[in-house]
Amino acid sequence: MPIKPAAGKTFEYTVPVVVVGAGAAGMTAALAARDGGAEVLLLERDHTPRGSTAMSQGNIAAAGTKSQKAAGVDDSGDRFADDIIKLTRGETDAELARVFANASGRTVDWLTETHHIPLAVDMDWGAKLGHSRSRIHATPRKTGTELVSCLLNACETAGVDLITDAHVVDVFADGDGTVRGVRFERPDGSDEEVGCGALILTTCGFGANREMIREFIPDMADAIYHGHEGNEGDGIQWGMELGAATADMTAFQGLGALAEPARVLIHYIVILDGGIVVNINGERFTDESTDISGMGRKVTAQPEHYVWFIFDQKRQDFVMKYEEHKEAMEVGAVRKAETTEELAQITKMPLETLEKTLADVVAMQNGTGKDKHGRDFANETPLQGPPWYVVKSVGALFHTQGGLVIDGNAQVQRIDGTPLPNLFAAGGTARSTSGPSDWGYIPAAGLFTATTQGRLAGVAAARLTTAAEQSAAAE
Ligand SMILES: Cc1cc2nc3c(=O)[nH]c(=O)nc-3n(C[C@H](O)[C@H](O)[C@H](O)COP(=O)(O)OP(=O)(O)OC[C@H]3O[C@@H](n4cnc5c(N)ncnc54)[C@H](O)[C@@H]3O)c2cc1C
Repeated sequence: MPIKPAAGKTFEYTVPVVVVGAGAAGMTAALAARDGGAEVLLLERDHTPRGSTAMSQGNIAAAGTKSQKAAGVDDSGDRFADDIIKLTRGETDAELARVFANASGRTVDWLTETHHIPLAVDMDWGAKLGHSRSRIHATPRKTGTELVSCLLNACETAGVDLITDAHVVDVFADGDGTVRGVRFERPDGSDEEVGCGALILTTCGFGANREMIREFIPDMADAIYHGHEGNEGDGIQWGMELGAATADMTAFQGLGALAEPARVLIHYIVILDGGIVVNINGERFTDESTDISGMGRKVTAQPEHYVWFIFDQKRQDFVMKYEEHKEAMEVGAVRKAETTEELAQITKMPLETLEKTLADVVAMQNGTGKDKHGRDFANETPLQGPPWYVVKSVGALFHTQGGLVIDGNAQVQRIDGTPLPNLFAAGGTARSTSGPSDWGYIPAAGLFTATTQGRLAGVAAARLTTAAEQSAAAE
């Protein structure tokens, strides 16, 4: 991903703000830059913008939103920041976490009110997994594809110029790191160049780049990657070449909830609400209700590298309202066992151990005994089976969380702490708020940072380029 010298270069056309990558971060950045009065060009390598955003569940963590207030949730950016700092054991940049957490509520309100994206707090999520308040927001169908459609509509309405099938391959910059333009390739082999006043990098992380995974997260080098294939780390590499600092490159979100062999995501609410995860021996091996990001590693470490999710009719009925669970049912990822014997047959687990595991869990849910793995079963409605529902599941790396170091305006910082003059980054391209590993990922942080950092980047890039235009006009 070489940076090419801009010296002596002229561009046929120049756009004040160029954004590379049309996922949640890129589209939000483009919207904010348009709102700030800048002309914006959004370049996307795929024929249809999807990104990891479309693969996601579309959940966005945000605090202090109008939707939360209407639902009676008393929350604030500072409370959200405290939760992030606690979950990451203080190993994230606390000041930045506070800036982004405090900007998250406004981001969701702005997307809802100004850009008519119908986001509302999902009260089913509740205060769990590090969130001390209900603060997960989603569109009505609670899917990433719906979120992408809404963002695309909003970009069109706002007058964002979007070019798809535009794979950015080169960035042109001056010696001092000022970016002057980019070159992108088209599927027919042709290419185009465009100049820019500011560049916003939103190409996501490096989950699809095996070499980078091997370098930065070597113990996940052979893990399944279940994110967008376009996330090859382009933006991070350009930033690094320009002298940007990176941080938390070892961080990622892992999940142990990928149905095998269908490779569809299983909604984790089936576990949080009382279901269990067992290995092929029919034994639980961890508190599966906490640290769901860390489950990716733990599931992969089990014998034969897969596990079984088990839940009952009540959980099955509840989760059917989620599109992804309907899809899991359609592809046959979820199987029903009318008896515990049938459950043992389907899974080839030893019946005796399985019966003991289930009986122990139900006893703990009824208030008898303590879980050796530390799960607090006391407040859960006891599992009532048979029938049982069961899913074979594997662990995977979903998206990386480290990236370019940015400031509170999403402007990329050099290793010496000074800002690169006109370079911004957001979403998977920028360092997230998850700390250095997989255990610090607070649910829905991916889209929280994508949208919030995206908005901040768009606002700042528009401010920079409109100020430059005004001073050029005054001369
Ligand atoms: C299965 C799954 C479920 C998830 N669920 C959630 C969830 O519910 N909530 C949550 O907060 N997070 C979730 N995440 C994480 C979340 O999806 C990401 O953190 C978020 O989508 C990142 O947004 P982004 O805009 O940075 O990247 P993306 O949405 O991946 O967009 C990046 C775009 O850049 C394009 N691109 C890359 N390189 C170039 C180039 N050189 N030139 C032009 N274009 C380029 C790509 O094609 C892509 O369209 C999930 C992730 C996965 C994989």
